[in-house]
Formats: sequence, C-alpha cells, structure tokens
Amino acid sequence: MSPRSRRLFLCLPVLGLFLLFCSGISAQQPFKSITYRLSMSRPNSHLFEVTMEVELPEELRNKSVEFQMPKWSPGRYAVFDFAKNVQEFRAVGGICPPPALCKMAPRQVTRVDDQTWSVAVVNSSGLTISYKVFANDLSGTFSQLDSRHANYNGGSIFMYVVGHKPDPVKLVINPPPGWKIVNSRLDRAGQTEWQFPNWDIMIDTPTEIAPDWTQDDFVVDGKKYHVVVHSFGEEGGKRAGLVRDIEKIVRAETLLWGPPEFEEYTFLIHFAADDHSGDGMEHLTSTQIIESGALADAGMYDDTLGTVAHEFFHVWNVKRLRPFELGPWDFTRPVSTRGLWVAEGFTNYYGHLMLRRAGLWDDAKFLRREAQTINGIENAPGSHLMSAVESSLSAPFLDDAPHAQRTNLENTTISYYPKGELIGMVLDLLIRGRTQGRASLDDVMRQMYDEFYLKSPSNSYYLHGKGYQVEDLQRVASQVAGFDLSDFFKEHVHDVEMLPYEEAFGYVGLRLNKTQTKQPYTVGLTVQVDDPQGPMIENVQNDSPAENAGLQAGDEMVELGGKAVTKEWQGTLASYKSGDAIPVTIRRDRKTIKTKIVLGEPERFEYRIEEKPGATAAEKALRIAWLTGSS
Ligand SMILES: [Zn+2]
Ligand SMILES: [Zn+2]
Repeated sequence: MSPRSRRLFLCLPVLGLFLLFCSGISAQQPFKSITYRLSMSRPNSHLFEVTMEVELPEELRNKSVEFQMPKWSPGRYAVFDFAKNVQEFRAVGGICPPPALCKMAPRQVTRVDDQTWSVAVVNSSGLTISYKVFANDLSGTFSQLDSRHANYNGGSIFMYVVGHKPDPVKLVINPPPGWKIVNSRLDRAGQTEWQFPNWDIMIDTPTEIAPDWTQDDFVVDGKKYHVVVHSFGEEGGKRAGLVRDIEKIVRAETLLWGPPEFEEYTFLIHFAADDHSGDGMEHLTSTQIIESGALADAGMYDDTLGTVAHEFFHVWNVKRLRPFELGPWDFTRPVSTRGLWVAEGFTNYYGHLMLRRAGLWDDAKFLRREAQTINGIENAPGSHLMSAVESSLSAPFLDDAPHAQRTNLENTTISYYPKGELIGMVLDLLIRGRTQGRASLDDVMRQMYDEFYLKSPSNSYYLHGKGYQVEDLQRVASQVAGFDLSDFFKEHVHDVEMLPYEEAFGYVGLRLNKTQTKQPYTVGLTVQVDDPQGPMIENVQNDSPAENAGLQAGDEMVELGGKAVTKEWQGTLASYKSGDAIPVTIRRDRKTIKTKIVLGEPERFEYRIEEKPGATAAEKALRIAWLTGSS
C-alpha cells in the first residue's frame, strides 16, 4: 500500500477521525528537517531554481518519498495546476548544504501523476531534490521572475512533501547581487533565512526580491505597518499621500474589529504599468496587491485604496474568521466552500463602508457604489437562478478559472462578491433598523470572530480557532439581532428571492429608486465588435429576443436594423419599442441569414439609492451611525 492509498483509507468519515485526517493532518512523525533553497541565477529566463533537502527517519530508508505541487493555492479557488510549469526534477541521496561540494548518487524519480514525483530513498539518511519553475505572471496567485524583480506566491513554486505539510520548514533565499528581500516575516535587514512552523505558513508569506522597491512605515495601536511599493511607472509624487490614506483605512478597520493579533503587517504593492496585471490577495500578516497602471495615472490612487480596504479587512474576515472548509487544505482537488459570500461578499461590503468611515469617501460616493452593485446583480440573468451558497460552491469555475470548453456561465451564474456584498448590507440595515440601532452586522462579525477564532481551541496544526458553517452565522446573527433570521437565510442566502431593499433602506431614511434604463432592451446579446473576422456574437442569453430570433454564439452580426454593427450597435435599439421587429442579418456557415428580433418588455432597470421623502430624525441618526461607525 503506497502512502497515497493509505491516506485515502484514513479519510473514511469515521466520526472524530474525519476532521483529523481529512484536514491534511498527517499521522506520520515529522521529518528531522525540511529545508528549501530558492535561487534565481538567470532572472530573464523566468526560471526559479528550487532545492529541497529532507532529513529522513530510520524507517523510511528503504521506501520512497513523494513531492507534490499543489493544484491551486488559498485565496483563489480555481484549479491552476502549478505542476505544469515545473521542469528538470532531479533527486540525489543525502544532503550537502552549500558551499560544501559532495559527491551524491542520483536517486530514481517516478512521476506518479500530474502533480506528484516519487523518489526512492535507497538507504540514505536524507534526500536532496531540485527542480526549476517557470514563473512570468505578476499576480496574487502566480509568481514572476524577470530582469526587474522576483515576486513569488509560494503555492505556485514550492512543492510539499506528501504527508508532511504540518512539519516545520526552513527557507533560504539566494538573491541576485544587489537585490533586497522583503516579506512580512522579516526580523532584520539583509535576512536570507526563515524558519516557518509549516509549509502552509511558508506559502502564506509572499515575497519580493528586487533592487529598487521602497518602504514606508507607520504605527497604529502599537502595531507596525510597512507599505512596500515597487513601481514600474511614474508615481507622480503620490506615494506619501497613499501611505497616509492607507493608515486611515487601518485605523477605521481596527476600530471595528479591535487590535489585530499580529505585531507587524506588510502591504506589498506593485504598480505594474502594463494595463493588464491586477490582483489583490490576502495573507495572515500581509497582502499582495498588483495594480495595472502607474500610481500617477488618473484613478489609480483611488483604485489602490479600494483594494487595500478590501484586503486588509481579510486580516479578520477569511484569514482568521473563516468558513470551516478553509484551512488546512487538500491540494489535490479544488475546495468546495459554502461561505464565500461571507468571506468575500461581506469583505466587499465592508471594504466600501470602511472607505466611508475612514473619511476617504463621502456618503454619496458610498451609496452610489452600493447602487452600482445592486444594478449589476438585479439586472443579471443569473441572479434568478443561482443563490449565494451555490455561487460559493461554484467558485472553482468562477474565480478566474480558465475554460477551454464553451460554457453558459454568463447566463446562469452570479458572483459571490457582489451578491454577498448586498446580503451583508441589507442584513446590516435590517438588524440596525429592527433593533433601533442597538445591534448591527459589526456586532455579528465581532461575535463570530470572538467565538470561532479568539475563544475557540485550534482544530488543526494550521491556525488558531476553527472554521464556521453558514448555519453558525445564522445562529450568531439571530442571537445578536434578537430576532430569528432563518427565513432571511432561507430566502436570500440559500434561495434567490430578491433582497428586502425597501425595508432595509427605509430604516435609515433612504429608498431604492427603480427606473427603466435609457436602453431598456438588451435583446440578450453580447457582441465582440473588434473580432478580425467581423462583429461576432459571443453570448446569447437564454429565453431572450435574440435566442427567439434563432441567433447563436459564433454568428457574425452583419446588420442590425439595416445598419452595420459597430461599437454603438446597442444605441440602434433605442429607436424601437416593445413589440417592434428589428431586421437582422447574420453570417453562419458561410451563408447569409436574415431574421427579426422581436423586442419584449423592458428588462433593464437602473437602481439609485436616494433620500426617502419624509425621512425622520431617528432614521437619519441611524444612517449616520451606520456610515460613520458611531453608536
Ligand atoms: Zn517587484
Ligand atoms: Zn477578497
């Protein structure tokens, strides 16, 4: 029986043993040591050189050890198969730490499957394996090595030893001459060696290695914050202001949650200036943020603050207070999580609210932003089909997942980010309103953090506390609110009923205004106008006028309403009304086809959050408490 099949046996759901073994905790004794060495001798090759040295216990000396690349990494839920970029995997018997030169015999390597390499030990006290990883993506998930820098996210470059993820690990980085290393676990300048309690914490520590990043620091409540910026474009003198505004966000968020448990935290920010790289990823004591523009660009400053407010909120919501499926993980398959509408959606909501409470947004800007989210969700066909929980469970398909196969996801899905954002906002207002301001979602979140993180015993090697289930949130929210929320959860979390906006906004003297958009007819088409073969239909919405007219994805749109299809093609619809038949010409299978799109009832609406006529002083006071965080 191989170690792999033994693990499968242990994963039988025997009560009590299930969590222990299936959560990735190995029953095996830890190795004497596991050391990673990371080099980057040829930066413009984009090849990181990784060496792993493992000191083995006596009983493994006639067996084999498996090394595995994770299929995905925490915070991104799609499977990316990092093993595809691994090359030149080699193994030798023994350990020979540099600079010593030892003669070591090669060991047989067997590729077990797409992510696993097995090495025969053959009576050695240790093994040294080495491999290279191609890395040329600046992101919160992948890694990049090039002539400018090395920026890595550990999951995409470091293998773990199968069965030994909980073991302590050492990391030694050998940077190119003149390049400095920075991450959130730096004890001193010039540090090149780290000791991590386990592999999971090592990959939770994104690291930047370059000659020219900058660092600005501030202190809030005795905790040190570092803002590390690597700019590939002009900063326009805006960095000092950016750091001051990040400090305001930190103050607003720590005011909600209380002081964080870390001593130091690092914002690792890249301004990629390539107009396409953009990402934000949360970690226990840092965040990796990549903005696609230069800091000097219009709008980039505000975008960065938006990402900072979101990612820093994750310090509590998701990194520590977490759905029970989130850590430790089985990296051989995607994780299915019911709670991403809380983990990401509530973080979206609070990210925006914190910008208001930090004084960086005014009331109007916050309400416009939330109305924009309502517009996105309420006009989306998928919002009638997919609940918040189903959206969370579909994360492996939705979260930047690559799709070689055509899908109908655009018609059938919603994102747990905006959906969870709206559930969070409406739930917050219902609790505030029905309790006349005595309780709020802020209290619910603090209570959850207290119960599931601060006061909960650890249920794994990975992290303090234990994960929560959606039912736990329902219970805690009902307790804090003082009324039963089971119908709310049934209708709006597990099902697709429209949220009770009217009641929610009414409590704070606001209302949701719904009007037809200037172009209320969408006909249900997405057209790629710039396609070199001519304007192509990308997507046809189910049960739409376009589908009824016989149009299909892949058709070339030649004419609509007698006019050639250009970027402004949707404007043509404005001259028609409900019931009109619009002539359409398409090309399919080298044939010209003429048909008619018959417009149905208006289906696109614009939502605005506005002052409720006759709003009372009490409602206005409740609004101020909500938007400013005062009680
Ligand atoms: Zn960099
Ligand atoms: Zn997030």
